[in-house]
Amino acid sequence: MPQTKNSLFDTFQRPMQDLRISVIDRCNFRCSYCMPDAEFGKHYSFLQTKDWLTFGEITRLTKIFVSLGVSKVRLTGGEPLLRPDLHELIGQLSTIKNIDDLALTTNGSFLAGQAADLQKAGLRRLTVSLDSLDEATFKKLSGGRGSPTEVLSGITAAKQAGFRNIKINAVIQKNINEHTVLDLVDYSRSSGHILRLIEYMDVGNCNHWESTAVVKSNTLLEQINAQYPIEPLEANYYGEVAERYRFKDGQGEIGFISSVSQPFCGTCTRLRLSTDGKLYTCLFASQSIDLATPLRNGATDTELTALITTAWHKRADKYSENRYLFRSIDRQAPKVEMFQIGG
Ligand code: SAM
Ligand code: SF4
Ligand code: SF4
Repeated sequence: MPQTKNSLFDTFQRPMQDLRISVIDRCNFRCSYCMPDAEFGKHYSFLQTKDWLTFGEITRLTKIFVSLGVSKVRLTGGEPLLRPDLHELIGQLSTIKNIDDLALTTNGSFLAGQAADLQKAGLRRLTVSLDSLDEATFKKLSGGRGSPTEVLSGITAAKQAGFRNIKINAVIQKNINEHTVLDLVDYSRSSGHILRLIEYMDVGNCNHWESTAVVKSNTLLEQINAQYPIEPLEANYYGEVAERYRFKDGQGEIGFISSVSQPFCGTCTRLRLSTDGKLYTCLFASQSIDLATPLRNGATDTELTALITTAWHKRADKYSENRYLFRSIDRQAPKVEMFQIGG
């Protein structure tokens, strides 16, 4: 059993540690791997605002998760910076004792205008998604929205606002942005922001994923090592998803998130809360536990705690490991979409 301060374990003895909260299901981008334009155009019905958990409801549930052992909280979406007054939620969450890590993942397009407020409210860590520095390649992936220049200004503003250890996430796809990876590595080495290269995953049912579009981490690792020699580093904590490497010349580190070629379900400590208050115990889940209805019908903290505890005790998710071991997936099986629960 892993050494953690947690006392709640699932059927595979994995502790509950890491909560991702989706604060909005809408986004100003239409990344082809997440929310492709063809399916999420004008006529798509996103959640109505009355269905969004309020900041008070999110804070109350988060306190319960923390009482059960969660120590890392990440706000995500959709694009979290589209949620009005997000800094107020951060202010509330930052007062909860025993959260060691309060972080946010963003596409960076609104960061320049919000970085200072987020920092002041108590946000401590930022991950910015940036798939390519090349304008045309970036736009091909983002559905023609935003630009690398805008994202880079957001990152600069965040640094000026006092954020340290900003991470850059890039999803790499064959024949799409694979050829621009070394530019991102150069940017990461010169800026000091840690780059994490993510394998393209079959999340949801909308991105028409094919295994042939995945660029395996090992391929990227060899390519990068040939240019800038790297060596492995220890994980920072139990259940860390990225495999860390350091540049041998001392110019920082880089991470690889290899959920397709080297699945890490065995140490998966994550759970996800959707914008409308549904709890998912796996990124590839089709079922969820509705927390919003009991919450709004007057459930006590004890009753909500019991619902969450039961869900975690029953948890037997190992989607990526099964995909890897059995080499087959049921493409028709309905799955939650990434933008509904966040990455
Ligand atoms: N909108 C924000 C952003 O893009 O950073 C936060 C939400 S987004 C769903 C969170 C992360 O999931 C992003 O880094 C994105 O690149 C990643 N992501 C989305 N779809 C993915 C997929 N099919 N495979 C791998 N990563 C994916
Ligand atoms: Fe939006 Fe993030 Fe999904 Fe791209 S990955 S469509 S930025 S939610
Ligand atoms: Fe965790 Fe599910 Fe991903 Fe496995 S597939 S690592 S259980 S989220």
